[in-house]
Amino acid sequence: MIVVKFGGTSVGDAEAIERTAEIVKGRLDRQPAVIVSALGGDELASLAEALSVLGHATPRSFDAIAAFGEQLSSHLVAAFFKLRGIPAEHLDARDIFATDDNFMAAEPQTDAIAEAARDLVQPLIREGKVPVMGGFIGRTSRGITTTLGRGGSDYSASLLGAALHAEAIEIWTDVDGMLTADPRVVKGSRLIEQIRFDEASELATFGAKVLHPNTIAPAVRLGIPVYIYNSRKPNGKGTRITFDAPRRAVSAIAGKGGITVVKVGAAKMLFARGFLRRVFEIFEKNGISVDVVATSEVSVSVTVDEPSGLESLVVELSQLGDVSVERDRAIVAVVGAAISEDTASMGRAIGALDGIKVHMMSLSATGINLTMIVDGDQLNQVMERLHDAFFTRGSK
Ligand code: ADP
Ligand code: MG
Repeated sequence: MIVVKFGGTSVGDAEAIERTAEIVKGRLDRQPAVIVSALGGDELASLAEALSVLGHATPRSFDAIAAFGEQLSSHLVAAFFKLRGIPAEHLDARDIFATDDNFMAAEPQTDAIAEAARDLVQPLIREGKVPVMGGFIGRTSRGITTTLGRGGSDYSASLLGAALHAEAIEIWTDVDGMLTADPRVVKGSRLIEQIRFDEASELATFGAKVLHPNTIAPAVRLGIPVYIYNSRKPNGKGTRITFDAPRRAVSAIAGKGGITVVKVGAAKMLFARGFLRRVFEIFEKNGISVDVVATSEVSVSVTVDEPSGLESLVVELSQLGDVSVERDRAIVAVVGAAISEDTASMGRAIGALDGIKVHMMSLSATGINLTMIVDGDQLNQVMERLHDAFFTRGSK
């Protein structure tokens, strides 16, 4: 059996839903279970988020409201499939996706999900039916509706695939697969036919929103391949994400804005024993996670994603040295499993950055990514230049 997930853009309107029906019809012999996002993506989740930002909705009520989006779309898609002769059967995803009560980013309970998948999903598949359920949503053991957070429908697909030991998980979206860069930013981006799990996960972390990193984890553990396909081009090659795809020097470029850099300078302190530990303890205590780190003899710079809660962090860090906070930076990542073994990559990257102000740069020791921090308004330009260096002029 396989798990087939349709993103918001693939169920955006009647024509799109028609296409999904054709895709599922073409896969009936592989026993698909179908997961769908809300129509056109965020839908009610955006409304619920607006309410919660305004202080009118608690996380718990956010989930209750947002969940209607996936409930609605899954009912609609199931009904439509039946009209088209597919033996579809709607399932309430909340009966399957058991979670804790961390509303808006609930943690799935994998044992309970596996049991529910065995009891509710598998029998339907055995009878030749096509189970259809909403992604993103779940329920606590006390019966309260939850959501899995951003990228949640991909997560649902991956969890279900893992629970059922699926042969494959297919993520259907509005691009041909994982590309060498976000096609909305870089015009000449190209399809990557095969990519390693670790690279895909890294790309997702640094902005390639086509796939949420969490999507990967439950499937990775069991070695289930994840495919990304374009629902507008059902016969496209797509991208296959597996553990053991070949290691390339550079597979893709990703980037994201809204990054804040925090610098702590302390002339005498850095070499003092325990300085870095104290710096990171303060981040940890404030619940702020750190992405990129760079040190010099007298300072340490780190990037953070979430600018909220920085005030108390800065107050505490100020006890260690001079603190500065720079907002509106962007992070760009050049990702490739063999990047540090390839002697040409660094020169190419640096050459592409000629004339660009680079605030920080870091190459991970495991060699999977080269990241740099630039001014937020240079993000797209830097992505284009790096893409050009590695994929247009570079390795044709
Ligand atoms: P869905 O609604 O199907 O879940 P998403 O919006 O979550 O779709 O993901 C698809 C989008 O991801 C694409 O439209 C594309 O703009 C964006 N994206 C970012 N980086 C990449 C990349 N490297 N390859 C492909 N798509 C990317
Ligand atoms: Mg998505």
